[in-house]
Amino acid sequence: MSYLKLPDEGPAMYKGVIRWHVRCPKHTRYNPDNGGQGAIVGGCVTCLKLYELQSAVRTIRRLSAELEEANQEGMDKAA
Ligand SMILES: [Zn+2]
Repeated sequence: MSYLKLPDEGPAMYKGVIRWHVRCPKHTRYNPDNGGQGAIVGGCVTCLKLYELQSAVRTIRRLSAELEEANQEGMDKAA
């Protein structure tokens, strides 16, 4: 999923999957993928944290894809 090059240790590849199994105890049906922030009832702090967590994972996925693409382009140019 992500790429990281450590300067002192040479190229390194880290891939992983981020999973979590948490729900809001008050709003067990809340899913950040369905409705996003707008579906949070009454400004629930727990649901907001779930939404922020989902947003952070999306950011990680986007950055990881961008880095992998840049890395691949660098490898293509070197070949
Ligand atoms: Zn909630």
